[in-house]
Amino acid sequence: MEKALVKINNLFVEYKSNKNIIGGEKIIHAVNNVNLEIKKGEILAIAGESGCGKSTLAKTILKLEHPKSGEILFENKNVLNLNHAEVQEFRQKAQMVFQNPYASLNPKMKIIDILKEPLEINTGYTKSKIEEIVKEKIKLVGLDENCLNLYPHEFSGGQRQRIAIARALVLDPEFILADEPVSALDVSIQAQIINLLKELKEKYKLTFLLITHDMSVIKYLADRVAVMYLGEIIEIGRTEDIFNFPLHPYTKALLNAVPKFNKQDKKEILKGDLPSSENLPNGCKFHTRCPFVMDKCKKFEPVEKGGTHNVKCFLYE
Ligand code: SF4
Repeated sequence: MEKALVKINNLFVEYKSNKNIIGGEKIIHAVNNVNLEIKKGEILAIAGESGCGKSTLAKTILKLEHPKSGEILFENKNVLNLNHAEVQEFRQKAQMVFQNPYASLNPKMKIIDILKEPLEINTGYTKSKIEEIVKEKIKLVGLDENCLNLYPHEFSGGQRQRIAIARALVLDPEFILADEPVSALDVSIQAQIINLLKELKEKYKLTFLLITHDMSVIKYLADRVAVMYLGEIIEIGRTEDIFNFPLHPYTKALLNAVPKFNKQDKKEILKGDLPSSENLPNGCKFHTRCPFVMDKCKKFEPVEKGGTHNVKCFLYE
């Protein structure tokens, strides 16, 4: 079995919300006791509705948010305790591709400068070595080196996302965190970017954390899936197990929300909205929406069972 590149232990992330009308401050519990391993060379997807904590988890792994408590180990070192030199090394090895390629590329910079910038900041490479790397990476994402002298507005959304991916690749990272990498793109070009990510993973043995609400993207790309609800991982397993034998009622509802050609399929539609992260329900956090809720679900929290297909639900005790 592949070793873990990233290991997350008992991670909690909280925010203070703005004062409410009677002056009190509320705590938003964005990530609640997450334990997770991302193995070298795999694509692990985090699935869940918006507001479930998946983007906060991603940003915390990359040190863009600070957790309340817990550990994030990258190559067995806790990224929360790195010294300055180690942080720089971590920033080279772990890169992010953002959702919106229109906002993530500086409109005032030429593509060549956008791609050179991380190399100039993080390496002592010569000018010619930097240009060589930039040309190599732009070709790697399927663009011609002639485009290096153009500005972001001269490209389509799909081409901009390719440029954003090239920027993530220039430092030869081991780990890429892709946050909704295709959701801002036209459906017609989503497949091209999805195929590019798959190719990069297979050719260069890159490790990905894929954050998306789109179950069809997950089915095509991911090796394993972790399903997140109100800041907790409530089910995790290999992609084929999650799609063929989903266990948690929330996972089943997410999968049933994916359009199917067979209209005879019985749908379990999610009832109600995601509860607020300020007032987390007691017991199982899904109990306010679960069609199978029992008395004990309202009082006690189900625990993980362990194993390759792991679920937190009293139905599988
Ligand atoms: Fe539903 Fe109870 Fe399972 Fe929670 S523990 S998902 S409420 S059956």
